[in-house]
Amino acid sequence: MTNIILLGPPGAGKGTQARQLTEDRGMVQLSTGDMLREARASGTEMGRRVAEVMDRGELVTDEIVIGLIEEKLRQGSAGGFIFDGFPRTLKQADALGELLARMGQRLDAVIELVVDDAALVGRIVKRAEETLAAGQPVRKDDTPEVFADRLREYYRKTAPLIGYYYAKGDLRQVDGMADVADVSGAIAQLLDRA
Ligand code: AMP
Repeated sequence: MTNIILLGPPGAGKGTQARQLTEDRGMVQLSTGDMLREARASGTEMGRRVAEVMDRGELVTDEIVIGLIEEKLRQGSAGGFIFDGFPRTLKQADALGELLARMGQRLDAVIELVVDDAALVGRIVKRAEETLAAGQPVRKDDTPEVFADRLREYYRKTAPLIGYYYAKGDLRQVDGMADVADVSGAIAQLLDRA
């Protein structure tokens, strides 16, 4: 069983790589962004509370996302978990460590997708255009304006996790600007070594 975190700013390709890993290795993808969007769509009280925060490109409270993750971890995964978009704060990182320890599990690696900011904005514009072309609605927080706010949130609250995991000896870095298949290959190599 392998448990990993995919770390990196919005648009770095965490979701794409996580989905690939679910196919290749039978791991379970835990995306707090997907869970929150599901909660919104189902119109629950929690969904209503988080909607505005998400649309502003800010982070929802630690309590909410930790609660969501705890629920999913209880369901277990034979192949292990890929944490995608979680943790995003030091408090979430501590909570994840405690939850895994309680289950008798550990993190095998924290993989940072290293990307170039200017290129990210280009990527997000492209993602919005492709989504539109496919006849699907574009996420409100994928507009260039809100995306800039999400990037700021990342540097203020999430980037400190790079140092946090480096100090624990868990951090691995992969060039996130490479082709999708090359990024997958680099991640596979890391995991086979872990
Ligand atoms: P994502 O799809 O991962 O970019 O997440 C979309 C939005 O959901 C983020 O901009 C936040 O508002 C919220 N969100 C997702 N994951 C977290 C998290 N771990 N902590 C706080 N907010 C989150």
